[in-house]
Amino acid sequence: MPTDLPRQSPALRRVVAARAQGKCEYCQTPEQFATQSYSLDHILPRAAGGATILENLAWACLGCNAYKHIQTHAVDPVTYERIALYHPRRQTWGEHFTWNAEGTHLIGKTACGRATVDALRLNRSGLINLRRVLVAAKLFLLGDS
Ligand SMILES: [Zn+2]
Repeated sequence: MPTDLPRQSPALRRVVAARAQGKCEYCQTPEQFATQSYSLDHILPRAAGGATILENLAWACLGCNAYKHIQTHAVDPVTYERIALYHPRRQTWGEHFTWNAEGTHLIGKTACGRATVDALRLNRSGLINLRRVLVAAKLFLLGDS
């Protein structure tokens, strides 16, 4: 079992943020436009035995981190199956999510994507408004991260 790294290590935060290119690994919002600092998300929550190691950490905005909390699974709103949430280290964002034509709403492409959009509320009104402004200002690049 890998040894936990110090959770509050500034170096660890820098490494995880750089790996995520400064964006929330769930909603894709660039931290430079957030009003609050991003944090380390334990993909498998510490409460469930998740270690503080690079392979179990994601860079997440406060909203995504708070809605995810200790969840690891959620219900797909289409099939009503309980599905594992998106795992930023083991899965590719673009395989599970896409943008609507305006770039304001995230759409789940798979059961995992749909369950994650719902559970983490990836289309929160504040995010939609921010995306609208960033798209209009050409500061938000849509893509398959
Ligand atoms: Zn987020």
